[in-house]
Amino acid sequence: MFARCESTDDVRAAVNFARERSLPLSVYSGGHSVTGHAVCDGGVCIDMRQMNAVSVDPETQTARVQGGTLWRDVDGATQEHGLAMTGGRMSTTGVAGLALGSGSGWLERKLGLTCDSLRSVQLVTADGEEITVSEVENPELFWGIRGGGGNFGVVTEFEFDVHPVGPMVLGGMLMYPGPMARDVVRNFRDFIVKAPNEVCGGIAMISAPPEEFVPEPVRGQPVLGMILCYAGPAEEGEEALRPLREFGPPAMDLVQPMPYVAIQQLTDGGAPEGMRNYWTADFLADLSDEAIDALCEAHVSRPSPMSQILVIPGGGAIGEIPEDATAFGQRTSPFNIHIIAGWQDSADDEVNVAWVKDLGAKMKEYATGGAYLNYLAEEGEDRVRAAFGSDTYERLQALKDRYDPANLFRLNQNIKPTGWQDEKEAVAVTA
Ligand SMILES: Cc1cc2nc3c(=O)[nH]c(=O)nc-3n(C[C@H](O)[C@H](O)[C@H](O)COP(=O)(O)OP(=O)(O)OC[C@H]3O[C@@H](n4cnc5c(N)ncnc54)[C@H](O)[C@@H]3O)c2cc1C
Repeated sequence: MFARCESTDDVRAAVNFARERSLPLSVYSGGHSVTGHAVCDGGVCIDMRQMNAVSVDPETQTARVQGGTLWRDVDGATQEHGLAMTGGRMSTTGVAGLALGSGSGWLERKLGLTCDSLRSVQLVTADGEEITVSEVENPELFWGIRGGGGNFGVVTEFEFDVHPVGPMVLGGMLMYPGPMARDVVRNFRDFIVKAPNEVCGGIAMISAPPEEFVPEPVRGQPVLGMILCYAGPAEEGEEALRPLREFGPPAMDLVQPMPYVAIQQLTDGGAPEGMRNYWTADFLADLSDEAIDALCEAHVSRPSPMSQILVIPGGGAIGEIPEDATAFGQRTSPFNIHIIAGWQDSADDEVNVAWVKDLGAKMKEYATGGAYLNYLAEEGEDRVRAAFGSDTYERLQALKDRYDPANLFRLNQNIKPTGWQDEKEAVAVTA
């Protein structure tokens, strides 16, 4: 059943209802988790979508964002004041799932991850109580919710610091023919590790849209897209981005001064609704030439033209924050690789999932062993542990023991309370 919540009291009632009846409980905000954890069979789905108000105070540079809001609504409201925090790269993603998994977006090299701009949340816990979580109130839980996912309760409101960005920024996409991909990625790798924090962006190995504006030779073909966003004055950006724009040259250069909200919606068309999806991800210790070769080979052999490989650089402000400041680790990894399959026909499930798994397995050779929680599929407990590393996982587990010992919030990348074994045990403990 769906509990369409309009207020914190509704959320509390839904949590209490599920807990008292030992029903499975899921939380739905943007619906973008490819694991499908936001919905459940035979239980209660807390549907947060009506709790989507955003208010911005430009004086204190603060945004208050309700728990069911999408990024497009946050970007619109904050940009009215020329303010932003790092937000999802697709405007249709939910703030909650993304921010609680730490949140990666175009501005992260300048502003850190989404969770690095978090000031506090209002949280409804497993016992149906509403608490404030911040550096001052429940500080250990504040550490845990910045990267630990939806394990500790339902967030009804986020309070973020917002920062001057835009409303116009220099950004857009460079597009290169597939055969140039190796050289372009190598150039990007060598450039970005030395680039100023204002240079934000990443690489998407995709198919060029079969549209008029795309030059005929690359239309519909495997291409390398480089999305750029200079998070500073546009005139400075022209100089800073020159080494990337002059390399090649690209088949298409759409980098120009544009509204920040346009950059935030640039890739929305790449993930239409109704697709079948599977993905995996790894943080890399180093983007070696061999790793780039493996990515490029997999790009051209994708079974589905809707599949893509993202190469997201780290560094900048992400790495300037101490590793143990939040539950998100991996702050020193230079690259995050996200392998995404999207296709339409269930008859093609096997071949597309196999493509992701094969490339994921090849990437292990270059990986740190850590993974990005927001980009994991349902890959088992060991992978969730590895995503955090054992010390962080155990610290999160201690929080889980304290705030959700019966694992009511388990439809997520689950941090298991101590002694937790299976669904039956959960029902017994809850009852
Ligand atoms: C097209 C697409 C683009 C993406 N782009 C990015 C990106 O740029 N950066 C990035 O970091 N990730 C990105 N992701 C991954 C995304 O952050 C995660 O899938 C995230 O979980 C989605 O959040 P949601 O609210 O949309 O999802 P939902 O499916 O609604 O929720 C996912 C999980 O989040 C938790 N949750 C949701 N709402 C709440 C709440 N109010 N309180 C507590 N827990 C809650 C629950 O555990 C739930 O199972 C993308 C995903 C897709 C499909």
